[in-house]
Amino acid sequence: MSPVTHFLTGWVFANCAKLERRDRAIVTLACVAPDVDGLGIIPELLTRNSSHPLLWFTLYHHSLHTLAFSLVVAAAGFALAQQRWKTALLALASFHLHLFEDVLGSRGPDGYQWPIPYLAPFSSALQLAWRGEWGLNAWPNIALTAVLLLITFWLAWQRGFSPLEMISVKADRAFVDALRQRFPRTNEPA
Ligand SMILES: [Zn+2]
Repeated sequence: MSPVTHFLTGWVFANCAKLERRDRAIVTLACVAPDVDGLGIIPELLTRNSSHPLLWFTLYHHSLHTLAFSLVVAAAGFALAQQRWKTALLALASFHLHLFEDVLGSRGPDGYQWPIPYLAPFSSALQLAWRGEWGLNAWPNIALTAVLLLITFWLAWQRGFSPLEMISVKADRAFVDALRQRFPRTNEPA
C-alpha cells in the first residue's frame, strides 16, 4: 500500500494506546519505516533515460520489509521514547501492520506481487505473498485510506491533536481549532 495509507494506519494505531506526543510519532513512523527502501524510486526515475540508469527501486524495494529491520526500528523506538517498552512493542506491531497491508494490497501495475522477504538477509526461504493480493491502486486501498483519513479527522476533533503535531504544535492547534469551529461539540458552549 502507499506510504500515505501506512502513515494513517500507524497514526490510528498509535492512538489506540495512551502515549505522549513523541511516542505517538515513533509508533506512527514505524508503520512507514519499511518503505524507506522505496526511496530508490527517485534516483531510478531521474536516471531512467540516461545511459546508466540506477535500478535502485527495482533492486531494493522490499529489502527492508524484514523481521531484522523491524527489530532495528523497535530498538530505535526504545532509545527515543519516553515510555520505552510500551513504545518499542507498539512500534514493532506497527511495523508488522505495514507488512500485513503490503501482503493484502500492493500488487504493482505489472502484476508483480513484491513478495516480502521476511527473514532476509539471513534466509530467503520465507517469502510472504498472498494469491488474492489486490493492486496498489485498487478500490480497497482507496476506501481504506478514506476511512483512515476520516478517523484521523475525528480523532483530531475529539482529542485535540492530529499528525500535524509532528511538524508544528502551533499548526496542529490551528487545525484543531478550525475543525472544532466548523463542527462545534454539542457539550461545549460555542
Ligand atoms: Zn511497504
